[in-house]
Order: sequence, then structure tokens, then C-alpha cells
Amino acid sequence: TPAVEDDHKGPKGVIKVPQRLLMGPGPANAYPRVLAAQSLPLLGHMHPPFFAIMDEIQEGLRYLFQTKSPYVLLVSGTGHAGMEAAIANLLEPGETIVVGNNGIWGTRVADMAGRFRGNVVELKRDAGQTFSLDEIKAAVQEHKPAVLFLCQGESSTGTHQNLAGVGDLCREHGVLLIVDTVCSLGAVPIFADAWKIDCIYSGSQKVLSAPPGAAPLMFGQRALDKLKGRKTKPATYNLDLNLIGDYWGWFGKRSYHHTGMVSMWYAMREALEIAREEGLEQLWARHNAMHKRLWDGLKSMGLEPFVEKQADRLISVNTIKVPEGVDWAAVVKNAMDTFNVEIAGGLGPTAGKCWRVGVMGANAHPAPVDLVISSFQDGLARQKRSL
Ligand code: PMP
Repeated sequence: TPAVEDDHKGPKGVIKVPQRLLMGPGPANAYPRVLAAQSLPLLGHMHPPFFAIMDEIQEGLRYLFQTKSPYVLLVSGTGHAGMEAAIANLLEPGETIVVGNNGIWGTRVADMAGRFRGNVVELKRDAGQTFSLDEIKAAVQEHKPAVLFLCQGESSTGTHQNLAGVGDLCREHGVLLIVDTVCSLGAVPIFADAWKIDCIYSGSQKVLSAPPGAAPLMFGQRALDKLKGRKTKPATYNLDLNLIGDYWGWFGKRSYHHTGMVSMWYAMREALEIAREEGLEQLWARHNAMHKRLWDGLKSMGLEPFVEKQADRLISVNTIKVPEGVDWAAVVKNAMDTFNVEIAGGLGPTAGKCWRVGVMGANAHPAPVDLVISSFQDGLARQKRSL
């Protein structure tokens, strides 16, 4: 046998991590109570006390999604896992999906849907704009898709997609509606049942303020029927919701599919309970108030929103136009170096054009928002751009 080698050159011993305020598009800082839950003793993933925690998580998810559907669970993975689970399970090869694409999330869903052999039709809009019900209707009538995808909170551009009437439209035309709420769930209203949404997925590390690694997902009855009536198996074992659902008790028993993410799900149980204790209306109001507070500060410096129409602006991830001649990256760097605050530049179609500031969950409070405002003041002043 060869000698064991150890080329380890870095720091040894107990891990050290700097404390930072995470005000980009995610992750947001986690609630201390959520982090504490993660350090509780492990249970086996098939132990009855762990199943009881999974039941509590499902109750919390039903509240957050405002649904009575039994078909809710956490996909093990980040928002992308929720996204891929939705597409892989609800789209059969050869079926048409209309993808609302006004930023990178539509682009990625279109990419995924193609990989699962869907016939992809992209409904495109420029960054910073959203889709009207009329144009969605026209696309549904023209392409007669099996599935329609929309992103409620487009975090690469900072838009909020109005969903009014879309659920009814989809029912009328026999279309399944999938909505991405990774950056919006908990910050702005969504009513899965009342708005007739068939599938919603989200993320753990944004408004819920848990670590990244669990994607809340819900299927309504029509989505479940589609899954059960498929002619072909979903082309992924890992994300097959027949199998994952069977672990979460969707079908009256519990079978092992993968090892539940024990500590992560403790964290999610706690994050969902924190959201329930505060209450959805209060959560929405708090996010709205902090969004206003942020913009009061930014506008007083002469900064402007990237998204033109107020009604289209996402309140959880705010996009701010980079003024002519300003070095956006220097402002981001200065925020981190001087204030220990993370803010982000643009992404995909907004790269170089805007900054992105997340005001989510544990960070949607006056002190973090004020620190962001100060970091912009200072960053611009250093470029002699302060007004
Ligand atoms: N959808 C949206 C709207 C997002 O903002 C993100 C993450 N920024 C994702 C999907 C993907 O989530 P994750 O990075 O957790 O995989």
C-alpha cells in the first residue's frame, strides 16, 4: 500500500467563518433559532419522531403556499432541484411548454425542459418587464402547451410577475401552471389554491432565512393526476416525485427513496414555524415596509430603480440602475470591505447594468437596510458621485 499523503497547507483545526451581512439576492442570513435547530442530535431518516417533523414541515408548507393540498414536500437540494423536479415530473417528452422568459430563470427552465425532451416555446420579454395576461393568453391559445412556466420573483432583473387570472386561463385550456417563487415566497402574497396554481417551488435560503439546501414544493391535484397518468417515467430517479412523495407520505405509507436531510429539515421546520408565528400578512407588510425604506434612502442619493413600472417591481430583490460613469464593482467591493455587507451586481441580462439588493427574511429589518444605504452613500462618495 502507498504511504498516506497529506498535502494540506491551509489552516488546521476548528473551522473559522467571518460574520457578514448578506444583502445580495441570496442566501440571506439565517435566523439564529434556525441554526440552533441544525445542531440538534441526528435522528434516523425513517424514525417515527423524524416522520413527525416531516409532518410539521408539510403543515408549515401548506400555510406558506396557502393550499390544502396533501402534496407538499421539500426537495433535497437548492432552488434548482425544485425547478428541475417540477419540469421533469410535469412535462412528458414531446409535450409543449411555454416558458415566460424575462431573465435567467426562464432561460434555465427552457434549457431544462429541452433536456427532458420537451418542445420548448419561449415567451420573451426584455429584462425589467413582465408579461401581461393578454400576451400569456395569446401564447397559450397559439401553442396549446401542456405546461406554462412563470417566475413570480425574477431575481436577475428584479421583476414581480402578476399572476392574476393566469390560473383560470390555464384551467380553461387544460394547461398546468408552474410558478417559481424562490425569491418571492413569504415576501409577497401567493395563494396556491385560490389562484389555481398547479405547482410551486421555492428555496430555503431567501425569505425563510434557513441555509440553502431544501426546496419547498407543492403539487395541486391536477399536477398529481398528471404525474400518476404519465406514459413515461420521469427521466430522473433522484427527482422522481412518485418516489420522493412516497417518502413524504403522499400515498399513505412511507418508503425509503433517499436519506432525508435530517439537520436541514430541522432547520426548515424551525424556519417555517418562525414564518407561521409572525404570520403571512405581517411578513408581507414587513417586506413592503423595508423595500420602501431602502428606496427612500437610495432615491435620496439620486439612484433609480432598474424596473420602470412600480407595479412590476419585486420587493424582495431590488434592482438599482448603475448611473453613467459609476464603477458598480467598486461599490460592491467597498460595501464588503468597509461595511461587511454583501450587495450584488447584475446577473445575466442585467450584468453591469444594475446592483441587486436582497431584503429578505431575517434581514428585512431597519438596521440591515440602513447599513446598505450607508454602504451606497460611502461607495458613491468615494467615486465623488454622492449627491
Ligand atoms: N429561481 C429564482 C427566482 C432564484 O432567485 C434562484 C436563486 N437565486 C433560483 C431559482 C435558484 O435557486 P438556487 O440557487 O437555490 O438553486
